[in-house]
Amino acid sequence: MAVRSFQARLLYLLIAILVLLDAGTLISVYFAGQRTLRNTVADQLRVGSRVLNRILDTRARQLSDSLRVLALDFAFREAVASADVPTITSVLANHGSRISADAVVLVNLNGVVTADTLGGRLSGKPFPFAALLRDAQNHGEASAMVSFANRPYQFVLVPVLAPRPIAWVCAGFEIDERVLTDVRRLTHLDIAIWSSSAGPQLAPDESKYATLEQPLPTGDGSQVNALLASNLEEAQKPFRKLELQIFALSTIVLIVAVFAAVIFARSVSQPLRVLAEGAGRVERGDYVTPIVVEQEDEIGHLATAFNQMQSAIATREDEIRYQATHDALTGLPNRTLFLDRLSYAIAGAKRSTGSAVGGPSVGMIMMDVDRFKEINDTLGHQVGDQLLIDIGRRLEHTLRQSDTVARLGGDEFAVMFMAPTFKHAEEVAARIVGAFDAPIILGDVSIDVNASLGIALYPAHADDAGTLMRHADIAMYDAKREHSGIAVYEPGRDEHTLRRLSLIMDLRQAIVRDELELYFQPKADVRSERVGHAEALVRWNHPRHGVMRPDEFIPLAEQSGKIGLITKWVIRKAIAQCAQWRREGLDLAVAVNLSALDLFDSELPVFISGLLTEAGLPPASIVLEITESAVMKDAAFAQKMLADLKRRGVCLAIDDFGTGYSSLAHLKRLPVDELKIDKSFVLNLTETAADDLVIVRSTIELGHNMGLVVIAEGVETAESWAILKRLGCDMAQGYFMTKPLPAEAFKAWLQASRWGSSAR
Ligand code: C2E
Ligand code: CA
Ligand code: CA
Repeated sequence: MAVRSFQARLLYLLIAILVLLDAGTLISVYFAGQRTLRNTVADQLRVGSRVLNRILDTRARQLSDSLRVLALDFAFREAVASADVPTITSVLANHGSRISADAVVLVNLNGVVTADTLGGRLSGKPFPFAALLRDAQNHGEASAMVSFANRPYQFVLVPVLAPRPIAWVCAGFEIDERVLTDVRRLTHLDIAIWSSSAGPQLAPDESKYATLEQPLPTGDGSQVNALLASNLEEAQKPFRKLELQIFALSTIVLIVAVFAAVIFARSVSQPLRVLAEGAGRVERGDYVTPIVVEQEDEIGHLATAFNQMQSAIATREDEIRYQATHDALTGLPNRTLFLDRLSYAIAGAKRSTGSAVGGPSVGMIMMDVDRFKEINDTLGHQVGDQLLIDIGRRLEHTLRQSDTVARLGGDEFAVMFMAPTFKHAEEVAARIVGAFDAPIILGDVSIDVNASLGIALYPAHADDAGTLMRHADIAMYDAKREHSGIAVYEPGRDEHTLRRLSLIMDLRQAIVRDELELYFQPKADVRSERVGHAEALVRWNHPRHGVMRPDEFIPLAEQSGKIGLITKWVIRKAIAQCAQWRREGLDLAVAVNLSALDLFDSELPVFISGLLTEAGLPPASIVLEITESAVMKDAAFAQKMLADLKRRGVCLAIDDFGTGYSSLAHLKRLPVDELKIDKSFVLNLTETAADDLVIVRSTIELGHNMGLVVIAEGVETAESWAILKRLGCDMAQGYFMTKPLPAEAFKAWLQASRWGSSAR
């Protein structure tokens, strides 16, 4: 996505630059063309005006030449000499028409017209163009432009010689269309000539014509003007054509350039896409496929750096995976990996035999170093660590490559191997024992290593890896207790007592090693379907047995006198969690379970109050759940204790209600707020389960009659929820909403679910 838009942006930029360049070229071509056009037209007009002058000059000379021929005519001179006006007039007319003169006039030496071809209009009057006559008298002849009868004329004046001048003959030629046609033909310009006494000439449309107005020299001071005009449209034609060609050419260039830009933009973004794809591969966990960018530029460097990063991530991930599956001290596989391999081997064996029956196929040995703690304490941790490393090494040397040696924690090792027969497994165990015949020498101490080994085999002793391990563990405890060195698991042995014993031993360390964890399960208001409470349920993350439920270890804690420690840990943790949620905006009350024995700890109320004050929580944000059987143990003492707690504002609930034998009369005396119907009545609650239905209904009624909040636990289905709602139960708890969750997961669940707390 990002790559595409980058490519598009690059492309737009390139195209914009190209279009601007193109437009710039076209505009400057246009203006240059216009400038040239104007200069050209101005030149054309100037040349035109020179041509006009030249033509007029030439015509004047031709006119005076032909007029001189007339003046030399003998008959004409005779007529002039004899002042025979009719003859003169006819000769003038004849000649005049021969030379295409518009007017021919004879002027005597006194400047008076004696005959004319204009029907005698001028005869007897002084010659109208005195200046022209003077000019002729001075120079022998004259010609000039004049305005005659409001029209521009060329007049020529030559003497009639006999042989001295006896008169002047004058011919006038109108500058008419014929003359102008010549000029047009030669100059390709439009032209008009007019006498200004006829008024101003209409100027042509300025936008279509470029014009030049020019006064022509006249012989008598009258005004004759010429107007030259060049048709701009005509003049522009070649420029238009040129512009069109340039436009076409640059459009072609533009198209080619855009194509080139597209290809360029692609070639730039293509490697980026390859990089992005590479990043995607890394995200999906592929650290092997490198990015191939065959470029030496920055992108090439980037790809190289990326590939290096990729392999660095791969290395680091390998390291992390290694650390997650290996013991840091010995480098041997840890419990996780061992269990994994054991499961894998068992699965393989199952597949190859098709069933779990047949001779033993996968064997494992659990091994515990005797007196290791002693060694550690007397010789120091460093020696202890080194000893463990050496033990691991010896085990590895003793066994085949295909076998697995793991360190499960502390001084516990485990070995897995393929065991075709029982005998084979015992041989492996014997070989391991034999491996420690020779003492381990560390510096200047020599240490005799004795170990207890427990053997268990698949499929004889267990059907899955977890059970197999537990059974090997039991066998190992047997070996230890009996100082036999090696023991094979005996099916049916009281696994329970052994396990309990070892758990009681481990329990000492559980709190110190921070192995306990609180899970939380919501209690929802049935009517509003909102979660307002969370019950804290303790879990033990046991280093060997994994996550353990309280049913398994709380009784042990009670037996061994550790329950007080656990209860205090739970209360402290629960209050802290409650306070944290409050800070985060989750307004929840947290319920904590008390054991029967806790009711004999008279310090408990003070302890709880202190913690609540410290955390700044109202006392009612803690609910203590006590089973009815616990209260019955020493009713009087328990009652005092509960009264004390109640005074301090803490909420109290009777847990597992219905399973004990408390009398109603007794219950009435307890200062409790909540009645919690035991899950055994709720789990199978359906409309047809008559017994449960009766018990649940009457318990709810009973509770309500006593002014108690009634809550049902073990709600697993929508049906039981609906029944409880119908029966008017106040609160409900159960897998229908969720199983108990660790604090973080609980918060996430609550925020995401429709049960989201009322605090929202
Ligand atoms: P409880 O107080 O009755 O707690 C409810 C138990 O029922 C929890 O088991 C819970 O996981 C389970 N449960 C909840 N909803 C359902 C459901 O819908 N169906 C079924 N089948 N079970 C459901 P958990 O967490 O294993 O706790 C077991 C017992 O251990 C508790 O019973 C409680 O008596 C005790 N316990 C838990 N935490 C502590 C603690 O911190 N101190 C003490 N003294 N006892 C605790
Ligand atoms: Ca409870
Ligand atoms: Ca309960």
